[in-house]
Amino acid sequence: MVKENLMEVESRIQAACARSGRSREDVLLIAVSKTKPVELIREIMETGTRDFGENKVQEMCNKIEEIKEPLNWHLIGHLQRNKVKYIVDKACLIHSVDSVRLAEEIQKEAVKKGVSKVPVLIEVNMAQEDSKDGISAQETEALVRAIAELPNLQVRGLMTIAPFVDDPEENRVHFRAMRNLRDRLKALNIPGTEMEELSMGMTNDFEVAIEEGSTMVRVGTAIFGERNYNKDL
Ligand SMILES: *Cc1c(COP(=O)(O)O)cnc(C)c1O
Repeated sequence: MVKENLMEVESRIQAACARSGRSREDVLLIAVSKTKPVELIREIMETGTRDFGENKVQEMCNKIEEIKEPLNWHLIGHLQRNKVKYIVDKACLIHSVDSVRLAEEIQKEAVKKGVSKVPVLIEVNMAQEDSKDGISAQETEALVRAIAELPNLQVRGLMTIAPFVDDPEENRVHFRAMRNLRDRLKALNIPGTEMEELSMGMTNDFEVAIEEGSTMVRVGTAIFGERNYNKDL
């Protein structure tokens, strides 16, 4: 079942790339496995997928322990400072950095664990929703500059969680604004930053996100099915 779902997502990604004149290799599919058991992750691994996303530190660590094979684990959820030490040497990319204090904690733990570069994205709350983490577009340049000063972090780009809407076209404006913001920051060539990545697009809106320049889509439900938060893991 999940493999068929993944194939379906894959063909929709290819179609979105074709529509927007982009190459498939320029968009990474991150299979968001939060709340889902490792058996399903293993099924997805059989398709050659190596990038998985989790939003909770504890759950991610448990799955890394259990699966053992080296995979690219993306931390996509809000990160508390006291949890940084558990994942600083395990996540291939932390998508959710939204404060200098959090970045400083990552710096401190990276030094302790001997990790010379921790790749991070800055989480931007593009639609300025009260319910969401992330900083405003206006604050982003200052935060990127501050984090660029931390030697063991590398800012690779931006991440956003777009509003939950019925019609994904409603989010096009936010994805476009994200891309413009990323382009502007990239043009500044701030040392210690790369600003290549745009992590945007989820089950509901990944095709629109790709059309607007996303380089990483984070897809959970369309691959693994609905999540049941009541069920114990
Ligand atoms: C859960 C989650 C996703 C995946 O959401 P779906 O709608 O199930 O595709 C993507 N990004 C983040 C940050 C998430 O927490």
